[in-house]
Amino acid sequence: MAEHAHPPEFEVLLDTEAIQRRVRELGAEITRDYAGRELDLVGVLKGSLLFMADLARAIALPLTCDFLRVSSYEGGTKTTGVVRFDFDLTQPIKDKHVLLVEDIIDTGLTMSFLLETLRLRMPASIKVVTLLDKPGNRRTEVPIDYVGFTIPNRFVIGYGLDLEGRYRNLPYIAAMKEPAAG
Ligand code: 5GP
Repeated sequence: MAEHAHPPEFEVLLDTEAIQRRVRELGAEITRDYAGRELDLVGVLKGSLLFMADLARAIALPLTCDFLRVSSYEGGTKTTGVVRFDFDLTQPIKDKHVLLVEDIIDTGLTMSFLLETLRLRMPASIKVVTLLDKPGNRRTEVPIDYVGFTIPNRFVIGYGLDLEGRYRNLPYIAAMKEPAAG
């Protein structure tokens, strides 16, 4: 089997080059918007792992990185609607310019929980960047400041996103194939 292979029921949705180009654009936009300020990038693990690493390198500003982890999925491809902290930030965010880095916003439940919780810690500002936005499955409205790609309501893997823990290392994003019509 090839080194980077997705399961046969998946197909490439966004290739490596498209992702890298878009991440560089997002980095340039964020660099312009935050000029003169110091940024605190907060990655939502584990999915934001690859995106965070590439995005941080595309931002030409002084910045710090921190991580947190919440779970909303009990494995498989269905959301449970339950969000809880697995682990929290290592540093306070009071008076900092926080940019939350997500892999994908689907129902919006995770991000609205995070925004509500982190705002109580009085950051100077808090914004959201997500590589992927799946607005077709939204259950609650979430303000998103930067979106890499808006995608259809399909289950995706790769570039940090997993299927039962695997495939995070794919350098591209693959989507589950639509069932054949008829
Ligand atoms: P939300 O709370 O917005 O429904 O979901 C956010 C989290 O659900 C994401 O950070 C991600 O971990 C997971 N998720 C949502 N859609 C997908 C998907 O298509 N593929 C994978 N692998 N995870 C997803």
